[in-house]
Amino acid sequence: MSSLPMSPMMGQMMSQPLLISNILEFAARHYGSSEIVSRRVEGDMHRYTYRECHQRARRLANALHGLGVRMGDRVATLAWNGYRHLEAYYAVSGSGAVLHTINPRLHPEQVAYIMNHAEDQYLLFDLTFLPVAEAIAAHCKTTKGFILMCDRERMPAESKIPNLLCYEDLINSHSDDYAWPQFDENSAATLCYTSGTTGNPKGALYSHRSTVLHAYGSAMPNALNVSSRDTVMPVVPMFHVNAWGLPYSVPLSGAKLVFPGAALDGKSVYELFENEGVTFSAGVPTVWLGLINYATQNQLKFSTFRRTVIGGSACPPAMMNTLIDDFGVEVVHAWGMTEMSPLGTTCTLMAKHLELDREGQRKILQKQGHAVYGVDMKIVDDDGKELPWDGVGYGHLLVRGPWIIAKYYKDEGGDVLQDGWFPTGDVATIDPDGYMQITDRSKDVIKSGGEWIGTIDLENIAMAHPAVLQAACIGVAHPKWDERPLLVVVLRAGQQVSREELLRFFDGKIAKWWLPDDVVFTDALPVGGTGKIQKNKLRDQYKEHKLPTV
Ligand code: AMP
Repeated sequence: MSSLPMSPMMGQMMSQPLLISNILEFAARHYGSSEIVSRRVEGDMHRYTYRECHQRARRLANALHGLGVRMGDRVATLAWNGYRHLEAYYAVSGSGAVLHTINPRLHPEQVAYIMNHAEDQYLLFDLTFLPVAEAIAAHCKTTKGFILMCDRERMPAESKIPNLLCYEDLINSHSDDYAWPQFDENSAATLCYTSGTTGNPKGALYSHRSTVLHAYGSAMPNALNVSSRDTVMPVVPMFHVNAWGLPYSVPLSGAKLVFPGAALDGKSVYELFENEGVTFSAGVPTVWLGLINYATQNQLKFSTFRRTVIGGSACPPAMMNTLIDDFGVEVVHAWGMTEMSPLGTTCTLMAKHLELDREGQRKILQKQGHAVYGVDMKIVDDDGKELPWDGVGYGHLLVRGPWIIAKYYKDEGGDVLQDGWFPTGDVATIDPDGYMQITDRSKDVIKSGGEWIGTIDLENIAMAHPAVLQAACIGVAHPKWDERPLLVVVLRAGQQVSREELLRFFDGKIAKWWLPDDVVFTDALPVGGTGKIQKNKLRDQYKEHKLPTV
């Protein structure tokens, strides 16, 4: 891949390619007895060890080979977080094929679109998604077979899918006598499409090298801090940017792994945490909202849950405070994106911050944080000129590194880099200590009288009000200022606050001209397939909203 000069004096260490198969091989050999526990869509719990997972992954690799899957072929999954999905992660990539994880929350038409775009040869899917598979089967032009991830007894007696195969039959009819092939670490390993809020989704194609480096980097203490003493439950789905790399970084650390399946409501997550002794988890803010509500309403505490990573969208400070102060759970705010494998920054304190009081520390912890080693970042103005790291001036955030996209799959979107840097589409500040803070997505930022208003700040303030459950701020057309902020609010059950009272709550917390012009109350905010609030939908919904004239 590289055309860099070679030194006349080369190092004399073994040259072993960084391959995904090696992670599971390592876990099975060195932490063979560590458990993997899954809540199955069949309704029961399943438990086994890394050793058994490795065995079944090799059987699956043999089965896929038998079905004609070869290096570089794409094999898709439509599945929850569970042990069979993990086996597919390793069997597909490990054998040199490319694992294409599909977000089942997409519309079936979109699922068929990306399967055709990816030219998937097979689809492995959970029982839950049988109706989706049936709806798309006739439209998937390249797909030779559909593999239902269940045992023979649960296979449907009849199906509209002509080439329907049973996963457990495949596993049972193949041996685990399989040696993981060795190949160039820059080979493609997994494919994940962006959520595609505008236009069709685009594919990020990760390599073995980028995935293994990301797993190393993200397991470090300043990042996810995973160790063999942890019990880790990835709530973030394996169909969204490889569950933030946890299916790789957890086995690499030898930790116990717990998969929640389809049950992501507060009660189910709480019970699984308690039953399995989960110490660490990761997910988007909307999931934690459900868990906190359930625990609060039922006056419950966590007995083992100590640390969580929150990212995917900004962690509201009120949520961080509740988790730390009321539940004793350490919160690590993280930022990244599909194009970044996904981890870019994580927020943990430096030694000098330990002397700060609670408020001082919280102010830092609420930022998106420090670059993880491997990621470099900078902020630039509209002309591409780099801006200082003063924690005040904000600009377009650009990143680069070995697990950051160089181009989209099949060159969609053409040349995406700017002088070797990837433009994230986020707007941010970076402070003198290197802590980055996102102020907005560039397409969500409100342009008022030629100046920018960041919506995350406004939402965080609104959500700190005790009556507010969720808040989203959007720009609405204004005859004089181009755009002005409109705050859309969901109240907590049984709570009330008036428009005026809520606007008064912003007093002294922001510059006066940032104050939202109006507040609307609604029952729910539109949430997309990856748990993020869909501001484009809100903008459509409120585009005719008449702001009060002052
Ligand atoms: P996706 O590729 O779907 O994971 O979306 C990536 C985008 O989510 C980023 O570019 C950000 O706009 C947003 N995002 C992710 N993490 C955070 C965070 N901690 N705070 C604010 N925005 C975030």
